Amino acid sequence: MVLHIPFDNTYAQLGPGFYSRQQPTPVAAPQLIAFNQTLADLLQVQAGELVEMAEIFAGNQMPAGADPLAQAYAGHQFGNFNPQLGDGRAVLLGEVVCAEGRRYDLQLKGAGRTPFSRQGDGRAWLGPVLREYVVSEAMHALGIPTTRALAAVATGETVWREGGMPGAVLTRVAASHLRVGTFQFFAARGETAALRQLTEYTIKRHYPQAEGPLGLLRAVRDAQAELIAAWMSVGFIHGVMNTDNCSISGETIDYGPCAFMDTYRADQVFSSIDRMGRYAYANQPSIAVWNLAQLATALIQQLDDPQEAVEEATAIIHAMPSLIEVAWLRLFRRKIGLETVAPQDLELISDLLQLMEEGQADFTNTFRALAEGTAADHFRDPKAFAPWQARWMQRREQEQDPQAIMRACNPVYIPRNHRIEEVITTAVAGDFTLFERLGTVLQQPFTEQSGAEDLRRPPAAHEVVTATFCG
Ligand code: AMP
Ligand code: MG
Ligand code: MG
Repeated sequence: MVLHIPFDNTYAQLGPGFYSRQQPTPVAAPQLIAFNQTLADLLQVQAGELVEMAEIFAGNQMPAGADPLAQAYAGHQFGNFNPQLGDGRAVLLGEVVCAEGRRYDLQLKGAGRTPFSRQGDGRAWLGPVLREYVVSEAMHALGIPTTRALAAVATGETVWREGGMPGAVLTRVAASHLRVGTFQFFAARGETAALRQLTEYTIKRHYPQAEGPLGLLRAVRDAQAELIAAWMSVGFIHGVMNTDNCSISGETIDYGPCAFMDTYRADQVFSSIDRMGRYAYANQPSIAVWNLAQLATALIQQLDDPQEAVEEATAIIHAMPSLIEVAWLRLFRRKIGLETVAPQDLELISDLLQLMEEGQADFTNTFRALAEGTAADHFRDPKAFAPWQARWMQRREQEQDPQAIMRACNPVYIPRNHRIEEVITTAVAGDFTLFERLGTVLQQPFTEQSGAEDLRRPPAAHEVVTATFCG
């Protein structure tokens, strides 16, 4: 069988200002680690022989129809503008259109140096590749918009980080890799014609109903508001919400130092480079608004009278916090089993979160335990939960089937940091059993699975992961 990818490339047609044509740099000894057959089916990608798939997903061979390139973009990194970022270690192979008509990018991450690599080696090592594979697929199974993982390949080469690490390449699938930073790239250079062209392309590809640059701004705002609320609802901390990692399609992108919280803490930070806590859990909504303001600044530069547009753009941005709150409330209501709406719900939910923080409760397991009637067990002092429980029981009287609501939205399994670390350690030693097992269990995060009790467990004291890295 020969691998077949039905490419239909449009980004490459935007012209040379948008990218640099780039072949992946071949690797020594590619070996296929993982291939996502379910996703391949969706994309109408036909699997080939193992050796061929390893060669292609490592970048050693180009599949027919690919048009490999590295995309140009800029971005604010921790608030500081960098006019020249771009794909420093990724190569876009091209696009495919799935049976339902949605278009997806196929990108090799870790495919070698590009003109945008700066000091970087253009490579990725096995650890971050497996983390992105597991966490992005888990995110998808949780029902949260995200890039996905089609394949992972070991390169047989050493990548130098803290020490020598085994190299790997991830095949990432995204609705597109257009970012806030893509718009900033052209705005910063004053390339208005290219900015117009990009805006038109983006509207057509992602938001065909949107009218003009401000219509696009509004559509991105709505998608990002939903996304951030969804992250909050599962205790996800992205870790590096720079504008170049803020997707126009509203997907979660760039699984670097991300993490799911175990114990609930509003100011939780894992990323080793986030020293000021800019991207802490509870800051994510306001950072999303800040990022949208950067998009607005870029977009309005193409308007004939940017000053006139400022007022409208400002109104669009100012509406975002309450849109996030509305989405957040809708999701957290469901997390405590509520379908009806009552004025005291916000307070009820906020009080629970505060109790959880004081009681050092595990975010995921406490919410799941609400459906099982065992939530008190998750608090350092179980008695502290009683007054809140009484209020909640009273509120629940208006509900038909709170248990079913909670079971459908509070996951049993999340990709816990200590398990991801274990996946990486065992995989580096050549054992992919846990990688595969965790991946399988996380495909059904809302269903209790026999023999997977260990994957529900929060970390023991010696297993706690305190910092994550970009890789
Ligand atoms: P990130 O923090 O992952 O969003 O990456 C920021 C920028 O650094 C992007 O332009 C990446 O392409 C680039 N980059 C990250 N890692 C590497 C690497 N190992 N080699 C070259 N460029 C990299
Ligand atoms: Mg990035
Ligand atoms: Mg990254």
